[in-house]
Amino acid sequence: MVPRPPDTLGDPSPDDAPARLTAGTVDEPRRPDEPRRPDEPRLLDTFGRVAKDLRVSLTDRCNLRCSYCMPPEGLPWLPNEDVLGDDEVIRLITVAVEQLGVTEIRFTGGEPLLRRGLESIVAATSALQTLGGGTPETALTTNGIGLAERAQGLAEAGLSRVNVSLDSLDPERFARIAHRNRHAEVISGLAAAAATPLAPIKVNTVLMRGVNDDEGVPLLRWALDHGYHLRFIEQMPLDPHGAWLREEILTVDDVLQRLADGFTLVPMPSKDRGSAPAESWWVHEHSSPDGDLPEPTAALGRVGVIGSVTRSFCSACDRTRLTSDGQVRNCLFARSETDLRALLRAGASDQELADAWRQAMWGKAAGHGIGSPLFLRPNRPMSSIGG
Ligand code: SAM
Ligand code: SF4
Repeated sequence: MVPRPPDTLGDPSPDDAPARLTAGTVDEPRRPDEPRRPDEPRLLDTFGRVAKDLRVSLTDRCNLRCSYCMPPEGLPWLPNEDVLGDDEVIRLITVAVEQLGVTEIRFTGGEPLLRRGLESIVAATSALQTLGGGTPETALTTNGIGLAERAQGLAEAGLSRVNVSLDSLDPERFARIAHRNRHAEVISGLAAAAATPLAPIKVNTVLMRGVNDDEGVPLLRWALDHGYHLRFIEQMPLDPHGAWLREEILTVDDVLQRLADGFTLVPMPSKDRGSAPAESWWVHEHSSPDGDLPEPTAALGRVGVIGSVTRSFCSACDRTRLTSDGQVRNCLFARSETDLRALLRAGASDQELADAWRQAMWGKAAGHGIGSPLFLRPNRPMSSIGG
């Protein structure tokens, strides 16, 4: 019986988390008391979690420069020859689905719509069969630029879902945050995607104090009116200048407080959350004066808040990550990687690739440890890891 990681769900402060939460992410790449891995095809770790959700970064490049993710001047991009080709990406996804039990693949980046072969990668992925005999779920996280022209084709290629990131309804403010004047393209991308089988579309927003934190209510009203499912994400220490301060971020509680100005929120049962990072609330117009909680059936819609920092969901994490240059990461905040590209280009068999991936995941730490004095940021920017 392997020990489960401490359940940090709902933990008001990771600062109070036991020290062993950070083991593995900080000084030690692996647990010192690492048990032997059982003979099991799926991506287990020593805390009993099973990774079934693969995040694939298709490029580290982007056509926006969101302040919390990239510097205005961009980053030193990966050389083309280091980036996996379409065939190489498809081969590794095939290993993940057919040998390692992955059932869901999310394409991200950088900006995945910059990848010309995206539709063929989606089509090849959707044609795979999971270990359970089903079709893998495929999803895309995008800034929406170019989605207007490609949403229908992506749906036809087999894409199941799309998340679009948008931090402001105001084009000028959008341009200040993203350092590019492309708000209209994101809005038209969203509208186009909503008219395809990819609907309902999820919208991801990072609210920042003094930047766009007055937009919680208007963004939620707009999302409800358009049938988009809005999720607010706590800002993580992945900004380019290392200026992130825990005291300054807008936490789940701060977001809920702002939303309470415009709506009555009723929590959805936490048992429905599973491994999903977002906590969800039913959204209602303000309650009647008698103070009764409204019926969920009368809700205008729902809203999610992803408390990556203050309400870590590490204990339920089922993710594994592949960077665009072919490195497996067992956590967004991991400080070590496993080089599948080198193995693949040296002629490794599918079995050898699968074994290396299994070993990489076995060493996954219990949690990201943000808030611990020993916490170290990952050695790659978010855009290169794949958000
Ligand atoms: N370019 C695509 C996009 O923006 O949706 C995909 C990649 S982006 C890295 C994926 C998600 O990560 C976006 O929703 C973005 O807002 C979020 N993100 C980036 N940096 C972040 C940070 N420091 N903290 C929290 N979320 C962040
Ligand atoms: Fe680009 Fe997405 Fe990062 Fe914004 S969050 S700079 S769109 S990769």
